[in-house]
Amino acid sequence: MSAVNIALRPRDEIDPSVDHVIQSLVSGGSADATCTTDLAAGPWTFDVSEGYGPGASMGDVIPTGSPRQGSLPQEYRDADPADLDDRIRAAKQMLGDRVVVLGHFYQREEVVRHADYVGDSFQLATAAKAHPDAEAIVFCGVHFMAETADLLSGADQAVILPNLAAGCSMADMADIDQVEECWEQLAEIYGDMDAADADGLVPVIPVTYMNSSAAIKGFVGRHGGIVCTSSNARTVLEWAFERGRRVLFFPDQHLGRNTAKAMGVPLAQMPMWNPNRPLGGSNADELADARVILWHGFCSVHRRFSVAQIDKARAEHPGVRVIVHPECPMDVVDAADEAGSTDYIRKAIEAATEPTTFAIGTEVNLVQRLAAQHPQHEIFCLDPVVCPCSTMYRIHPGYLAWTLESLVAGEVVNRITVPGDVADPARIALERMLAAKPPAGRVETPGSAR
Ligand code: SF4
Repeated sequence: MSAVNIALRPRDEIDPSVDHVIQSLVSGGSADATCTTDLAAGPWTFDVSEGYGPGASMGDVIPTGSPRQGSLPQEYRDADPADLDDRIRAAKQMLGDRVVVLGHFYQREEVVRHADYVGDSFQLATAAKAHPDAEAIVFCGVHFMAETADLLSGADQAVILPNLAAGCSMADMADIDQVEECWEQLAEIYGDMDAADADGLVPVIPVTYMNSSAAIKGFVGRHGGIVCTSSNARTVLEWAFERGRRVLFFPDQHLGRNTAKAMGVPLAQMPMWNPNRPLGGSNADELADARVILWHGFCSVHRRFSVAQIDKARAEHPGVRVIVHPECPMDVVDAADEAGSTDYIRKAIEAATEPTTFAIGTEVNLVQRLAAQHPQHEIFCLDPVVCPCSTMYRIHPGYLAWTLESLVAGEVVNRITVPGDVADPARIALERMLAAKPPAGRVETPGSAR
């Protein structure tokens, strides 16, 4: 497979659009430099098919019952990019303050350029809160993000996901029925899950990453648990260890392992819970000794990064600064110079005062945008194969134009609503996170140097 490093072109020519890069690779005969040539097609091609569509998680199993996008009207599929761009601008102008458009860091450039706010999932959900008078919040991200925005926004505000098929394969790996079953099996080992021991600690505190369904956040809220982000995972685990003997962490095993390891928890005390095996694949002794039980979930984007890629970057770019996201596997995080959230990565690049070469281990749309925004630096994605998050890829400007023009016509399409019996405990879990503070003397750092 030939590698094409899309950022390594004259720096003043870097195009922030990964879609342009993919189109040119496919039409220019370098198709093996992308993970699939299907990326060059419109995502509506896949709206009626099984799976997450082309991109990094295309091999993951999509749960039955996941939302499917009904067909996008033909006029939006046929429109050329410049026409869609104009229509989105015009619709936004007509709607004015009635709508807020949110764009995730990993979203394609052609969508992000229309966003009122660009950020990670939690930053965007809180941005939505800052506009209580907006009638609609159009969330250009994935399903769990729109759910979180619905939890934090007003009851009269409509949160809209432009393509209902934009799920998240990692969030889907923690299914509520499997989590309930896990809890029951753990109760057989630990006894009464609500009973505190002599130290005032309950047997298990459930902790869920923001990248999980509202149903999982609700489960966590009902069982004394809490939500975390990749920026505050350490503070949240400290909060949990003040209340429980151990933590059940889902859905991302890598964020859980990397964070707990940095806190000094031995790997031997971090058994994995595979929901398809009895006792998650561990035995009762291992679970009795556990400090952090890791759910068997992962992000297919961040799982693509490897130590071999870091070694290659260092060999080809002496002095390169390697920063990876904590959703990467532990050996990759250990081999990098630094690990941190998307916000940490962005701020680290912004703070570099001297021209620097950065090799970044996170989603390619963000890396390419950072490369275009900071031409004084050389910034490239550690993964030489262009393979974006397949679920973010499902949001195309055609869907954004459709949702906005529908609003102009007085119609709300693709509204995401979390039912009240789930929303109430899920909000409690989010509020616990907001209230959690690092112990006195330790400043919250959303990343760390190795
Ligand atoms: S990058 Fe990974 S965790 Fe984020 S939305 Fe895509 S699949 Fe989910």
